[in-house]
Amino acid sequence: MIEFIDVGKTYSNNMKALEDINLRIEKGEFVAVIGPSGAGKSTLLRCINRMHDISEGKLIVDGVEVNSLKGKEIRKFRQRIGMIFQSYNLVTRISVIKNVLVSFAPKLPYWRKVLGLYTKEHKVKALTALDQVGILDKAYVRVDQLSGGQQQRVALARTLAQNPDIILADEPIASLDPVTAKQVMDDFTKINRETNISVIINIHHVEIALEYADRIIGIRKGKIVYDGKAEDLTEEN
Ligand code: ADP
Ligand code: ADP
Repeated sequence: MIEFIDVGKTYSNNMKALEDINLRIEKGEFVAVIGPSGAGKSTLLRCINRMHDISEGKLIVDGVEVNSLKGKEIRKFRQRIGMIFQSYNLVTRISVIKNVLVSFAPKLPYWRKVLGLYTKEHKVKALTALDQVGILDKAYVRVDQLSGGQQQRVALARTLAQNPDIILADEPIASLDPVTAKQVMDDFTKINRETNISVIINIHHVEIALEYADRIIGIRKGKIVYDGKAEDLTEEN
């Protein structure tokens, strides 16, 4: 469960990116955060896994006050939260499975992760995650041989392999064509239904958000302007 209580976020340049945010997201929800560019969507997501510190209020994730975490605790906490980006953040010159295995060694320097140092159990988990997103047959293919949609699935598999409670996806379909974008959204839906992992997605394609998410949170100029079911959202909202 994620709870924002009167949360505000002001960046060091005095840019007030979030203001008076009050939200409660239950385990297993599929939430889309929508709003124009610069509204604060990315900031909202990045506060949840402590990529950014909040400036005001309280942010509680599964009973833990996120901003009270220190050093090692932050790393441990982040292991429970999968983060997916628009740009996939994969190492494109190595195989798909190596990219997924990286999630088992978050503390190692990148070159050591790439070289290996994984157990058989890790490998099984990685292959299982690839199967869940339908690209098991690509396990030993280099990432740069894959389409954008397949690469985003690798990113999703990498996150799944880490066995998270929450997946945060920051504009995961922004660089994909509409057909591929829907396939990736189908994957998120399937994962959410099958595993009960909470999924929170930033998205600027409103129609896609409405089609897939159970709940829509609309943000404008750092404030929540809509929070409700997708089917209740009308033009003037
Ligand atoms: P969105 O994801 O909705 O496009 P963001 O959360 O990225 O919005 O940004 C919200 C506002 O905060 C924007 O005005 C943006 O320029 C500003 N902003 C984002 N990141 C930073 C940062 N690291 N430092 C200063 N301002 C930032
Ligand atoms: P995204 O939309 O993927 O969050 P952006 O391209 O908007 O990323 O920004 C890239 C980086 O620059 C992010 O880390 C973001 O927080 C930061 N950033 C965005 N807007 C500003 C800003 N106005 N001032 C300083 N940093 C910013």
